[in-house]
Amino acid sequence: MVNYKDLGLVNTREMFKRAVAGGYAIPAFNFNTMEQMQAIVMAAVETKSPVIMQVSKGARNYANASILRYMAEGAVAYAKELGCAHPEIVLHLDHGDSFELCKDCIDMGFSSVMIDGSHLPYEENVALAKKVVDYAHQFDVTVEAELGVLAGVEDEVSAAESHYTKPEEVIDFATRTGCDSLAISIGTSHGAHKFTPEQCTLVNGVLVPPPLAFDILAEIEKKLPGFPIVLHGSSSVPMDEVNTINQFGGHLEAAIGIPEEQLRKAAKSAVCKINIDSDSRLAMTAAIRKHLAEHPGDFDPRQYLKPARENMKKMYIHKIVNVLGSDGKLAQ
Ligand SMILES: [Zn+2]
Repeated sequence: MVNYKDLGLVNTREMFKRAVAGGYAIPAFNFNTMEQMQAIVMAAVETKSPVIMQVSKGARNYANASILRYMAEGAVAYAKELGCAHPEIVLHLDHGDSFELCKDCIDMGFSSVMIDGSHLPYEENVALAKKVVDYAHQFDVTVEAELGVLAGVEDEVSAAESHYTKPEEVIDFATRTGCDSLAISIGTSHGAHKFTPEQCTLVNGVLVPPPLAFDILAEIEKKLPGFPIVLHGSSSVPMDEVNTINQFGGHLEAAIGIPEEQLRKAAKSAVCKINIDSDSRLAMTAAIRKHLAEHPGDFDPRQYLKPARENMKKMYIHKIVNVLGSDGKLAQ
């Protein structure tokens, strides 16, 4: 049993409270590799932003759970080495699908977990979330739960269609589960193909997806004033990265994300955690494809992973400063 506090990590409670009051959102970036981890830490330190480093079940399968935990511990040390005396780094489990997985993460030093029972019947979702909360809170680990279903595919999470969160359920759910934050469904979606072209409108040659359901978000905020709300599936799928990938041998068709203005608007509300994964994948792949196409003789992974890391760092900084507004928001 390792407690996250001994690793220098923090839970989400204080940073969410400040984010809701301050009208900004904390970035939640997924990581699977050392380069992603380094880019996230560099971006957070340079912008003086709190950051949530999150690990999905797929990441645990890919990289090994222990390695990821030690990488997060390394992230704290690395942030200090880069000159940040008091980094605020959360190690979060993304889309935990069972009590056992959440417990395993809590026991190995995670400071926050998500229990995703959103696909279950309502009462089963409540019971599962409450069980995880009861365990997690003994160790001051914060818990995110989910109501409503997001469409899209990401790692081991997939759903054909979305079901918006029902505002009439949120008070009962938050009260009975005791969860610390709530992921909701208001039109964001997992993956790099969030919408079909048919769902979008063509504006100046660009496919614009349907707007997020801000009316539902407003109703939820009215029912749970000041309660931390989380948006999943919030990559914006930048067209320049998609174009670079396609220009250098890739084949990504109709990749469409959430426009950044919509996320900026959401960040100013009770939405205090915004999950971004696909944009990091795109930034990494675009830089690697470009580098290898332009330097066909290179075969040292450091030669192409260095520009990949740079490109991810640039993307993370852009999100923090221009979309989420969490720059300069460290407690001390
Ligand atoms: Zn998600």
